[in-house]
Amino acid sequence: MSNDDPGGPTRGRARFRPAPRNDWPDVPEAQWNDWRWQIKHRLASLADLESRMRLTASERAGILFSAHKLSLGITPHFFSLIEKDNLACPIRRQVIPVIDESRTDDAEMSDPVGEDSASPVPGLVHRYPDRVLLLVTDRCAAYCRYCTRSRLVSGAGGYDFHPDLEHALAYLRAHTEVRDVLLSGGDPLLLSDDKLDHLLGALRAIPHLEFLRIGSRIPIFLPQRITPALCAILRKHHPLWMSVHANHPREITTEVRDALGRLSDAGVPLGNQSVLLSGVNDSVEVMRELTHKLLLCRVRPYYLYQCDLIQGSRHLRTPISRGIEIIEGLRGHTSGYAIPQFVVDAPGGGGKVPINPEYIIYRDAERVVFRNFQGRVFEYPDPGKNGAPRALPEAAPVAGG
Ligand SMILES: *Cc1c(COP(=O)(O)O)cnc(C)c1O
Repeated sequence: MSNDDPGGPTRGRARFRPAPRNDWPDVPEAQWNDWRWQIKHRLASLADLESRMRLTASERAGILFSAHKLSLGITPHFFSLIEKDNLACPIRRQVIPVIDESRTDDAEMSDPVGEDSASPVPGLVHRYPDRVLLLVTDRCAAYCRYCTRSRLVSGAGGYDFHPDLEHALAYLRAHTEVRDVLLSGGDPLLLSDDKLDHLLGALRAIPHLEFLRIGSRIPIFLPQRITPALCAILRKHHPLWMSVHANHPREITTEVRDALGRLSDAGVPLGNQSVLLSGVNDSVEVMRELTHKLLLCRVRPYYLYQCDLIQGSRHLRTPISRGIEIIEGLRGHTSGYAIPQFVVDAPGGGGKVPINPEYIIYRDAERVVFRNFQGRVFEYPDPGKNGAPRALPEAAPVAGG
């Protein structure tokens, strides 16, 4: 599994492999491919995991701790991608808790990007002028250990999550400045076909809402959910876009590729949001392989997130400089379409801030001097446009206090 074909005449097709399924040899194909079977057979307890793999002491303790914070949950599909003998397996690190989750450092928060304080109606976050985030459920197909919303998803943390969809719809009807609604959660694709159709229809009935999108990891965790019936519903509500969430190239199996293909064929433009995670995707090589596989699946890498300051995430976070190095290692070296925007979601709540490598070396009233991806230096004569020699823009007072 780990030595994906790096290229050659069969580049592309050969990079995709089916989930190995070795852990469920006797399950008939039809059941394995049924998303309800996958949900019903999720690994959700210490006993479930121990019956199928050897765990470390740290993982055992982490799983017991997770019951009070963010539940353990892994679909058989995703579990089958774990290399059971590899403690550093990048799939394993994303979904199996370790004891480090119980350690909180001073900078960490339960609501790291300040969503609760930007929420006029339960389940609706209105931070930006023209668009809102609508949290439609608190459940996911599987639980990412670095979840930004671990305070409210999975039901383990004691958060009283009651999205008020009727009030949210009333809010949206009244707020004509909103033109873009992003459905998230939890994972919106866990709603039944009928509920999703009804909700999208209710949003579509609001004339000023132009643009709808869904944020979902289900195409990766549970590709079986992307049925032709679901795709037929989604295509009724265009323009509807989707952001999926893959972090490592091994997640893009043939089943995932085919699910993404069904969404694309239904006219849903696809983006990917990755979270930069230590020991998972914190290298140029891994991110390049991931973004290339995404392009082959017609998915445009959208954001690369600095991991939020979620409680117990220290072991998964990287320095911001790593993200800059990764973008620098991609820009110019590969297709522009393969390069996501690296962002930090401002701690405490200021929204996403783009963080880029610095290419400008100098600028004054006559010219701008910059470097290219190879480090070669160029000059663009730009009289009268640049004012005084460049200084850092005056900083606003530090937010949050
Ligand atoms: C990320 C986010 C959005 C969408 O941001 P885009 O940059 O337009 O993708 C909207 N609202 C909230 C609260 C968000 O966190």
